[in-house]
Amino acid sequence: MSTQRRFRIAAIPGDGIGKEVMPEGLRVLQAAAQRFGIGLDVVHMDWAHCDYYLQHGKMMPDDWKARLADVDAILFGAVGWPAAVPDHVSLWGSLLKFRREFDQYVNLRPVRLFEGVPCPLAGRRPGDIDYLVVRENTEGEYTALGGIMFEGTEREIVIQESVYSRVGADRVLRYAYELANQRERKRLTVATKSNGIAISMPWWDKRADAIGEGYPEVAVDKQHIDILSARFVLQPDRFDVVVASNLFGDILSDLGPATTGTIGLAPSANLNPDRRFPSLFEPVHGSAPDIYGQNIANPVAMIWSAALMLDFLTEGQGAGRQAHDAILAAIEAVIAEGPRTRDLGGTASTSEMGKAIADRIV
Ligand code: ATP
Ligand code: MG
Repeated sequence: MSTQRRFRIAAIPGDGIGKEVMPEGLRVLQAAAQRFGIGLDVVHMDWAHCDYYLQHGKMMPDDWKARLADVDAILFGAVGWPAAVPDHVSLWGSLLKFRREFDQYVNLRPVRLFEGVPCPLAGRRPGDIDYLVVRENTEGEYTALGGIMFEGTEREIVIQESVYSRVGADRVLRYAYELANQRERKRLTVATKSNGIAISMPWWDKRADAIGEGYPEVAVDKQHIDILSARFVLQPDRFDVVVASNLFGDILSDLGPATTGTIGLAPSANLNPDRRFPSLFEPVHGSAPDIYGQNIANPVAMIWSAALMLDFLTEGQGAGRQAHDAILAAIEAVIAEGPRTRDLGGTASTSEMGKAIADRIV
């Protein structure tokens, strides 16, 4: 089967182990694209990393947006080299610019327990943990609105505003309902705190109900963020799709992957579902300077992110969905049978594990 058009992908490895896992992501991506007849052109971008900053005084060239104007998606490694450049400089100068300027308002993180990875939750088996966290990625609690009065005195008062818009809430809620509607279980959990945050959260609940009217088949369940977090640990099998505001989603999308064993597995997608701008796919983990240069980083988070990219580009249809599923099956098999990297208890190198996954694409 062959799709009509070719896709243009920007590969931005960034810093540290981003540079080691990127070639494995591309290796598996190319293998899957070839197997399922998807046309891909990969453009390598050697900026958005800390060496570039040390040479140019900025993380990215001024015309970075133009350089990405004709790409369909960005595959991103990781950014940060705190020994040379403070993390807030590298992060705000690259990744956060992409998220904002490309209006990537959905942050999607699949959470799944694999066979062969010890689970920190007692007695849990693969299948018990298999859900998606949808985080609002552009507004909510993360603003710079507010201030400090009487600063430096005992009378200090701090105000920090949260900002929600109907457009902003509705679009991420709609995305989550759509996603839930496509899945077998059709369950959506909406994170809230309407008992304590008395204005924005009851409003958020109301928007969830309003959007939900268009999705009668989706079973919706609103849960306060405190008990919801507890249930991620105690009853993870209750969840299917979970949608949350920026701050709540940020916390849940670290807690979820933490229950599945290792940070080296978790992928993420920063999506502009309207497709007006490129979406960005990246591992959840950072540049890991502590293990960089040894070829021991686990490449799975990167490879899984590439699979999410194929699925998104082809709108979950035909060859793209098949390629995604084939990559996931290959990841599953290699995690269970080896070769595995050190974080999974094995001795394989990054490239050995990446190659094993590519070889399993059938
Ligand atoms: P961030 O960049 O989000 O601030 P961080 O710098 O706090 O993240 P990471 O760079 O993700 O954290 O590293 C956290 C720990 O996890 C480190 O000890 C690192 O070695 C380990 N780690 C991260 N990614 C991987 C991976 N792909 N394989 C193996 N170990 C990893
Ligand atoms: Mg870091």
